[in-house]
Amino acid sequence: MLGKDDLSYKDLAKNILDAFDLGIDEQVLQSALNLYDHYDDPENPVPVVKVRDNIHVCELYHGPTRAFKDMALQPFGTVLSGLAQQRNENYLIMAATSGDTGPAALETFKGQPNIKVVCLYPVGGTSDVQRLQMVTEDASNLKVVGIKGVFDDAQNALKALLSSKEFNAALHLENTSLSAANSVNIGRIIFQLIYHVHAYLELVRRQEINLGDKVYLNVPSGNFGNALAGYYAMKMGLPVEKIIIASNSNNVLTELINTGKYDIESRAVKTTISPAMDILKSSNIERILYDLYGADRTRVLMSQLDTEHRYELTAEEHALLKQYFVADYCTDAEGKTIIKQEFENGYLMDPHTATCFKAHSSCAEKDIPTIIYSTAEWTKFSSIIANTLTGKSDYHDIDALKYISEVAKLEVPEMIAELFNKPIAQQTVVEKNDIENEVISFLKA
Ligand SMILES: *Cc1c(COP(=O)(O)O)cnc(C)c1O
Repeated sequence: MLGKDDLSYKDLAKNILDAFDLGIDEQVLQSALNLYDHYDDPENPVPVVKVRDNIHVCELYHGPTRAFKDMALQPFGTVLSGLAQQRNENYLIMAATSGDTGPAALETFKGQPNIKVVCLYPVGGTSDVQRLQMVTEDASNLKVVGIKGVFDDAQNALKALLSSKEFNAALHLENTSLSAANSVNIGRIIFQLIYHVHAYLELVRRQEINLGDKVYLNVPSGNFGNALAGYYAMKMGLPVEKIIIASNSNNVLTELINTGKYDIESRAVKTTISPAMDILKSSNIERILYDLYGADRTRVLMSQLDTEHRYELTAEEHALLKQYFVADYCTDAEGKTIIKQEFENGYLMDPHTATCFKAHSSCAEKDIPTIIYSTAEWTKFSSIIANTLTGKSDYHDIDALKYISEVAKLEVPEMIAELFNKPIAQQTVVEKNDIENEVISFLKA
């Protein structure tokens, strides 16, 4: 497959998916892949930008919601709805979101037959743009519920709901199954393999590297879906030196990779300028453990994590992990310095992407190219960026967008600009205790 280095993104995707023999209807798969035609440049949906020698940024945010969640959720929505129709099944997708998964899930499932989506978000816990992306979505199969509380309240409410008798009875009555839209869903990971291979081939096409040369993949990580896909690509033969895992101050992954200890016993989640990575229990790590150490050992480690909130790899296990991964983390202050410096050098990035620049400087030991994965457009985190560039802190997104657009000479994309004029279609805001009733009545509607 790597020999065919002139494939378009869609053709490459088709080749990779065919290799998995997923049993997805040809037509469904084709219409899923056609969604990349709605990216900024259908000929080049995933641009790889050279920032300087040996640093290339693979921009994963040129889709409808301006964050990398679209890369997997866009095609996944079509595939899941296609399967549901074929099998005459109904699915309810439940998502608690802190800002990027919610908009991407609503966008992909909007109007899709046999699918309903409920999205819970903390009122005041997202940026203006992220909230507007959700509450302006108008389709009868979508329900967005604001919760008076923080993200953890939304997530806990979701967990409580999943174990509620009344809720499960209502699901049964409506002949509906639950499906997860988060990155635990393996259907999403498969679509993420594609861009790792694509980015590598782009460097070959540009003669930055020769086919077979090794590169670093540098991934801003939270639930580890993006990095897991890079690991699978490496195991499928992509020439990768190491995968660099970049984190923010919630640096559990840095600690795991550098010391072999996963310890959340004495930690509380910190709020940072890269909120999509404010995570302590990184769900896809389980899949790495499984692949490296087998099912039995994984079961032991994961149950230790559940009961003791920590586990420790043996020296041998740790050495194996380090054959694939290196890691570092980036504080908010370091991230802001990077955003400012790189902007002055001509490249504008969001705070998640900035963590990779820090990790690159400390982890890339050899003089070989690094592919940094940029996971969000500046428009999604504009108030933090405007604050970083000016030192002022009282930006509403609408003013921050205008300011950055002027100084960076970049246009605000239409789908972001129009949010501020769209009618609010989703008005529901409830107390935590009222979520269950709200969701059940939507299910029955
Ligand atoms: C989800 C997300 C991440 C983390 O990706 P994982 O696959 O969960 O590791 C990083 N940056 C942004 C902007 C995201 O939305």
